[in-house]
Amino acid sequence: MDYKNFIGGAWVETSATTPNVNPSDISDILGHAARGDLTQLDQAIDAADQAAAIWAASTPQQRFDVLDFVGTEILARKEELGRLLSREEGKTLPEGIGEAARAGQIFKFFAGEALRQTGDKLASVRPGIEVDVTRSPVGVVGLITPWNFPIAIPAWKIAPAICYGNAVVLKPAELVPGCAHALVEILSRSGLPEGVVNLVMGRGSELGPRLIENDKVRAISFTGSVPTGRGIAAACGAGLKKVQLEMGGKNPMVVLDDADLDIAVDACLNGAFFSTGQRCTASSRLVVTEAIHDRFVAALAERMSALKVGNALEAGIQMGPVVDARQLEQNLSYVDIASGEGGRVQGGERLNRETEGFYMAPALVTETSNAMRINREEVFGPVASVIRVKDYDEALNIANDTEFGLSSGICTTSLKHASHFKANAQAGMVMVNLPTAGVDYHVPFGGTKGSSFGSREQGRYAAEFYTSVKTAYTLP
Ligand code: ADP
Repeated sequence: MDYKNFIGGAWVETSATTPNVNPSDISDILGHAARGDLTQLDQAIDAADQAAAIWAASTPQQRFDVLDFVGTEILARKEELGRLLSREEGKTLPEGIGEAARAGQIFKFFAGEALRQTGDKLASVRPGIEVDVTRSPVGVVGLITPWNFPIAIPAWKIAPAICYGNAVVLKPAELVPGCAHALVEILSRSGLPEGVVNLVMGRGSELGPRLIENDKVRAISFTGSVPTGRGIAAACGAGLKKVQLEMGGKNPMVVLDDADLDIAVDACLNGAFFSTGQRCTASSRLVVTEAIHDRFVAALAERMSALKVGNALEAGIQMGPVVDARQLEQNLSYVDIASGEGGRVQGGERLNRETEGFYMAPALVTETSNAMRINREEVFGPVASVIRVKDYDEALNIANDTEFGLSSGICTTSLKHASHFKANAQAGMVMVNLPTAGVDYHVPFGGTKGSSFGSREQGRYAAEFYTSVKTAYTLP
């Protein structure tokens, strides 16, 4: 077995395994991953529970050393890890290497944060009493991660968990065991006490509910689909557990008449189609005002059809395959739905390449309205639609008319409209003349409405989730 589970500091086999298939070439099996059962999961939670007390007592220097070691090694091996990522998930090699580097930077950031943990000391309102406000670790945290950022998302959950003194059980997505395994293998050599980081691969529908129900798990951080997230929130509510959810998006990119056309087309091409559109921050609704509409659509369609789609590991490829057969079917069926609803579709057909993989051409659907299913439901593929609007006010209304609220963008040269949009876009992240996707690692990430729940991930704001606040009173 190539990827074993990691429980209490030991690598553990399972009788059942899951093949790790390269979406660019399904004859290429990267390896076989453990398929853990409930007994293994309980063992991992017990190991984390025992280690949590030990790690909670660690010094900032110990935490810094572990996080810095991991960050340094990931950065040194970013090409190799990026290649593994591209081979198992299908994003292009530059995207894979970029994501691996991002994971390394996240560990470096939280290494620094480990040294910067502060509290408040106040005078009491009563005479002679001191008040201290400090942050304590939460304890055992369950981390459930998706396939689309196979190393960065585990990194941005594990690094703050360790930084603030918690122990974790990671349940990665079934499609991307290689990156999770590689990351945990580095962590296993980082000087962490046994049991602080545990990896249990297996079926999400089987392991997920148990991870949430187990009383020893005090908090759950989840990134994935809306239906799964809703179920997790309900179960965490019943168990009175802390929960943090990052889910879908139907992110709008508004393009106004006064936009710089080249900047707008670049931002939309990147936002809609890079990483094969498999980003929760992808620009899937392009809301375009009348006077620029036709020029914008013509320029974007030309750039889109020139994108080189193919094997993620080949040099010069700009868009890799879809992650698996199920997601490809979903994307193609949304293209059909959009044309059935009256949209005009360019691209969006299945493609054949030298190797058998899950290839499709990027799709642009024009002449759509915001009421159509293609503009209400998340596709999670390289499919973007264009909604024609009269002016800025209508654009803002349509941008906000969605159950989601992750990222919202505008392309304009008007300071007035940019400022108004930043203040009034109903989203956790707002982009001006930039793609809706592509964020920094040292500032908060997250959304509003149906996209997110709980406190923010990343940057200093991650402390909110991974700690609990303690107020102590002393009469010296
Ligand atoms: P996606 O469509 O991106 O696969 P999912 O929400 O199905 O989104 O999966 C995201 C993560 O949630 C994966 O690690 C998956 O195994 C896990 N998961 C799936 N079903 C459940 C569940 N019922 N409870 C908890 N986690 C689950």
